[in-house]
Amino acid sequence: MVSDERFKILIVDDEKSNLVALERILSPEYELITAQSGKDAINMAVSDSPDLILLDIIMPDMDGFHVLVRLKELAETKNIPVIIVTGLSNDHDEERGFFLGAVDYISRPFKNAIIKARVRTHAMIVRQLRTIERLGLIDSLTDIPNRRSFDDRIDIEWRRCAREQKPISFLMMDLDKFKDYNDAYGHPQGDVLLRTVAELFSEAARRPADMAARLGGEEFGVLLPDADISNALYIAEKIRQDVEALRIPTADGSTVTKATISIGAISTIPGDDDLVTDFVALADTYLYEAKSLGRNRVVTHESWNRRTMPDTSNQQVL
Ligand code: GH3
Ligand code: MG
Ligand code: MG
Repeated sequence: MVSDERFKILIVDDEKSNLVALERILSPEYELITAQSGKDAINMAVSDSPDLILLDIIMPDMDGFHVLVRLKELAETKNIPVIIVTGLSNDHDEERGFFLGAVDYISRPFKNAIIKARVRTHAMIVRQLRTIERLGLIDSLTDIPNRRSFDDRIDIEWRRCAREQKPISFLMMDLDKFKDYNDAYGHPQGDVLLRTVAELFSEAARRPADMAARLGGEEFGVLLPDADISNALYIAEKIRQDVEALRIPTADGSTVTKATISIGAISTIPGDDDLVTDFVALADTYLYEAKSLGRNRVVTHESWNRRTMPDTSNQQVL
């Protein structure tokens, strides 16, 4: 999508009447293309590069979950956000959809206004991502968003989550004893470690609204909109373990290096008087507590998390 082109949406549903209904709702604002089978959907996603995909789950040839898996595997389509629109409406299917990388899940019957609002939100995120690329808000060493793009994004997501009364989570992360790593293996090897962990964080921030950013030297942040504290802690612990499991050989192959990371995790449903700057600052204090408790750990406290998980224990050190 070039900026003066219309936002293009691929709608996938085996039932013609469902396609017609969605076309009626969305055609005033978007350019639409449609597919009536999973196979056609994948082919069109590759050939027509839609900006967003609305995907039905129950289809005769290849069900929507399989289509989603394939879309996330293909380099040409893996960054296209997918919204599941389906008659299947149990929690298990919804979770499965999100787990496979869908950005949203809408069950039938739905209100037209809901479809419009959700599509508009995801269209805005896509446009923002493109702006980031265009304005060079990407960190040149690690190729992930830098501090400035992070600040812009958390602002937008904070306001959206406040409006929709949805949880938002944030992980503040800092490599442990990175100065010692540089001293031991050299600055260029330190850069290799930064690039390696940055890629790992981007993979952990897998939904398109998620964002992993380099906030400074060896400090990184992961923004997780629509995630509560239990989701955030799960991702944080996974990141911690994945960093700990890294084995990065030095350039001359003489040795294999290891690293660990400390993480402060926080989550809330933003209230009217809450400031995003306080939210980030609190995550920073949790991070420094993780450092002082011995590093290589995730720390959070009840505090603001209470709103997204009523029974959080007073202090959770994983
Ligand atoms: P702590 O566990 O308390 O975080 O200790 P630390 O050594 O990681 O923290 P400290 O802040 O003392 O050191 C950070 C180091 O990160 C020092 C700096 O040279 C290094 N650093 C910052 N940016 C870069 C970079 O772009 N490349 C490399 N190789 N090193 C960097
Ligand atoms: Mg450090
Ligand atoms: Mg530091």
